[in-house]
Amino acid sequence: MTGSNTAAVHADRDVQPSHAVARPIYQTATFWAEDADQFAKAAVDRRGQDFYTRFGNPNHAQVGAVVAALEHTEAAMVTASGMAALTTAVLGLVSAGDHVIGQRSTYGGTGSVLLNLLPRLGVTTTLVDQTDPEAFARALTPRTRLILLETPSNPLLQITDLAAVAGLARAHGVLTLADNTFATPLNQRPVDFGVDLVWHSATKYLNGHSDVSAGVMAGPAEILDRIADTAVLIGATLGPIDSWLLLRGVRTLPLRVAQHNANGLALAEALSHHPAVARVYYPGLASHPQHALACRQMAGFGGVLGIELAGGYDAADEFLGRLRYSRRAASLGGVESLAVHPASMWRGMLGADQIAASGVALGLVRLAAGTEDTEDLVADAVAAADSVHRNHKEEARTV
Ligand code: PLP
Repeated sequence: MTGSNTAAVHADRDVQPSHAVARPIYQTATFWAEDADQFAKAAVDRRGQDFYTRFGNPNHAQVGAVVAALEHTEAAMVTASGMAALTTAVLGLVSAGDHVIGQRSTYGGTGSVLLNLLPRLGVTTTLVDQTDPEAFARALTPRTRLILLETPSNPLLQITDLAAVAGLARAHGVLTLADNTFATPLNQRPVDFGVDLVWHSATKYLNGHSDVSAGVMAGPAEILDRIADTAVLIGATLGPIDSWLLLRGVRTLPLRVAQHNANGLALAEALSHHPAVARVYYPGLASHPQHALACRQMAGFGGVLGIELAGGYDAADEFLGRLRYSRRAASLGGVESLAVHPASMWRGMLGADQIAASGVALGLVRLAAGTEDTEDLVADAVAAADSVHRNHKEEARTV
């Protein structure tokens, strides 16, 4: 097996070989066949690359080869977004009457699949505290088919014990599906801990340039074939150009992740003792309640951290407004730093009771460090926190 830098650049070498050094873009909706036999064969080649782009395209297969090499899986397929990867997989793997377990701390879209979409289709779901592996055991029923994992979770950076939950699931014949978006395969490979399937919002780190919406599902070919049967019906196909851009992005993933890791850790350390900050959520800090577990299953801790401002909602909004480099935007994983204040973003989406139930404090800011120079990002964040601290002290004096 090669190293990750080499795999990111060469793992797709045998997929539609060409003398072009950069991969051609197969901007075609369909492919012609030499004869009836070839046509019939291409039509049933799941995740193929020679029939009709909704069924598969060389640009899809190239990204799949690289992601499979990075994630240590047999195969991988691409979809039009991260959510398309998740919904396609879930709809391909469960039926009415089945039961699915998920986490309480999870990306909002995944939460909605568990709380709204699946119950509407007759699939029951249970959400558990992911920090307690026993909670997964207690939630199992004879109808449980699938466990959805996400570690570190968005936005609270909670860690799931992958080996414990995957071992439990295997012992009961239940499939596990882990969202590896925050960690990336450079920091964590869920299948090395026994997880069956891994998915990504490839919109984030895998692409890394905030210019593509895409998803990836990686795992054993036999299970991906079942998911691919659903994918051709759902039709959430990644366009060839976006697939080509994703391939170009993933080539530099190992280089970018090293800088994201360095920036995430430096920001977490610099802010964790700041007087304007009540708490920093980052699995790489010794103060994170699951730091020891994170060290066992992660090689690095990523670029995303949660910063809870002591002054609550207004302080968080002010902190975000004072950052020079991290602009207010709902994504992460690109070369540029981005930040979100979940409580203000959710104002129009969720009621006050739902925000309270999420466990996300009103003063929490999710900062996604890009690949800028560490000193610049740290100086910027500390200056923003200093300013919040000064203003809130003055407010306290005048009240
Ligand atoms: N998983 C995580 C952890 C995310 O943060 C997101 C999006 O923010 C998704 C999945 C959904 O991915 P996409 O927006 O590509 O559909």
